Amino acid sequence: MDFDVIIVGGGPAGLTAAWRCAEKGLTTLVIEKKDRLDENKRANTCYLHIAPGMYGENISLRRMPGEARLVFEKNGFSLRYTGEQFDYYDSYMLSPSGHKVHYRGNNQPLGTVFDMDAILSDLLREASGRGAGFLTSALVVSGENRGNRARVTVKKAGKSLLVEGRKILVCEGLSSRVVEKLGLNKKREWLGKAPFLQYTMEGTDCPLEPGPISIKGSRRIIMAPDATGKNRWSLITSSTLPAKGCKTTMDYFLNDSIISPWFKKAYPVKKLATTVEIFTPLLEPYEGHFLIVGESAGCAETQVHGAMLSGFWAGDAVYEELLNGGGFKSYQRKWVSAFHWCKEEWRHALVKNSILYPYFKDEELDYLFSLLDGQVVVTGPSNPFTSMENLMNLFLAQPGIEKEIARKVERLKTIGAEDIKKLRQERLRRHL
Ligand SMILES: Cc1cc2nc3c(=O)[nH]c(=O)nc-3n(C[C@H](O)[C@H](O)[C@H](O)COP(=O)(O)OP(=O)(O)OC[C@H]3O[C@@H](n4cnc5c(N)ncnc54)[C@H](O)[C@@H]3O)c2cc1C
Repeated sequence: MDFDVIIVGGGPAGLTAAWRCAEKGLTTLVIEKKDRLDENKRANTCYLHIAPGMYGENISLRRMPGEARLVFEKNGFSLRYTGEQFDYYDSYMLSPSGHKVHYRGNNQPLGTVFDMDAILSDLLREASGRGAGFLTSALVVSGENRGNRARVTVKKAGKSLLVEGRKILVCEGLSSRVVEKLGLNKKREWLGKAPFLQYTMEGTDCPLEPGPISIKGSRRIIMAPDATGKNRWSLITSSTLPAKGCKTTMDYFLNDSIISPWFKKAYPVKKLATTVEIFTPLLEPYEGHFLIVGESAGCAETQVHGAMLSGFWAGDAVYEELLNGGGFKSYQRKWVSAFHWCKEEWRHALVKNSILYPYFKDEELDYLFSLLDGQVVVTGPSNPFTSMENLMNLFLAQPGIEKEIARKVERLKTIGAEDIKKLRQERLRRHL
């Protein structure tokens, strides 16, 4: 089997790349380990963050009768989306004993909730409509450059097969096997490994407006309304390894916590589990004929729309690389300038969120959040990369904030990579 492009992984990055490659007339094969490409199997809160300028783009959902289109204004493309979706105007952060920061959109939504299965099935339709081929239930175990071509080794139905192509796009998401086999992880720093557990609960009776709710502290959870906007909410928790810590936290929130009354009549309709491994990003995301795309080269999340954006660039990059050369380098320039964590000052923005505890003790979080009880913080569309900085600024703006804790808040704004590593290790020790 020989192709212009082989794409390893059919998530949002891989399927968008497949659509773009096939549209440009390249013979394209997607190899995916799942049996169904249109079924999401990884935990996901399904928020579309539409803050202007995120990833150097203005992303929006344009609704028309019968369908919507996800529009990437600056890159000049759009993709069909036919699934359920609704805009949310409120979001909340709760302290361990229930003090609340309530955000509300300033005459505009904070974001949109979408359906991940629908995103995948619409992308699949676009890619297969343009002629891309698919090999499912097939696990890629390694890849190698061979002269003017490259190949991957695939395990399918107990057999091993070799698939060869002119270029290979690695779109496996975090913890990529091919990146590891190519030796590219040696260029990165390992930041950690975390299991996630997600329950989708039918019959949830949440008194707050539908939107993201995140509970901070020594026990943490995120609540996300389903795209139908009905009484179906997802609960997502993470822990350090071993993964059974996730189940203990989930049981606590469902049965003994400040939010458990909301789940008295609720029952799980779906359970998902994911373990993610986090490295610093690959700043030179290619090796020979392999281009590493989306989260496989990322640090933490590209988010679904960031993965689609990088898939689109990857399609163009392969075409250019095959035609004149230089395509992978031009992908690299876009990648490094768009993704915040490729730049030093942003690298740990999301990680800071995860170390709120133990950086602040539970009682300190209760104190800080109590300063905002009863207020509605009017704000623009949500951006997970800037939310931590904004929260710290909000605390500091509260009159009468205790001096000592204000100093601690200031410090979190400027904390560096080494401190973050120590705090993460401390959290790990406390959980053992
Ligand atoms: C808990 C959690 C919550 C999140 N919430 C949001 C959110 O609210 N909004 C948002 O936009 N993003 C969210 N994300 C992030 C989002 O899911 C990712 O950024 C996005 O899915 C990355 O896309 P990708 O295509 O790069 O990788 P993935 O979506 O991981 O896709 C990779 C694909 O490759 C396949 N694959 C992997 N390895 C192999 C192999 N060796 N052989 C063959 N196939 C393989 C996988 O089965 C998968 O289909 C969340 C992530 C987590 C963990």
